[in-house]
Amino acid sequence: MKVVQIATGVMQANCFLVYEEGSRSAFIVDPGAQAEKILAHIKHYEIEDVTHIFLTHGHFDHIGALAQLKEATGAKVCIHERDLSMLNSQEDNLAAFSGVSIKTCDADIVLKDGDIIEAAGMDVRVLHTPGHSGGSVCYIVDNVMFSGDTFFYMYCGRTDFPGSDPQEYHHSLNVILRSQKTNYHVYTGHGVKTTLFGEFENNPYFSR
Ligand SMILES: [Zn+2]
Ligand SMILES: [Zn+2]
Repeated sequence: MKVVQIATGVMQANCFLVYEEGSRSAFIVDPGAQAEKILAHIKHYEIEDVTHIFLTHGHFDHIGALAQLKEATGAKVCIHERDLSMLNSQEDNLAAFSGVSIKTCDADIVLKDGDIIEAAGMDVRVLHTPGHSGGSVCYIVDNVMFSGDTFFYMYCGRTDFPGSDPQEYHHSLNVILRSQKTNYHVYTGHGVKTTLFGEFENNPYFSR
């Protein structure tokens, strides 16, 4: 599996282009901003078919280029049911509080925990890890995890936003993620990649 990381926008949210070696089909995770930049990567890697756009959650810095990407590729938009309202509310996706307005679109597939979506020849599993937002998820493909804003390298997601829940968040980190038995390579929503067990070991927000 190839994972291309593209930092986008003023928040430098990571967008990922994911495909099987030699394949012309791909899926995208979190088209945060700068649609032209993301589309240039799709072209550069000779991807002809983007099947799905997976959103780790609905905050504006992760969905800012969503409408343009969907329009350009026809990909199916996937988001957890609890963040669904963020696609159509500039308040819910926090854009209104950041002085920006983003173009949005509807979801095609509404996700819940444990769903497995076949995308570009790969199985993408949904692990619901609420707290940063109610519909925050981690996506798992083989030995790779996309963690969105649920956790970062040596850092954690904010839980002081409207729609955040610190208690749920604590449970997601220290029960749901802690119970994972695979040391996933983790691509985070901001910053550099890491590994799940490395975070268990070194990240102070994962309690022992
Ligand atoms: Zn967020
Ligand atoms: Zn973010």
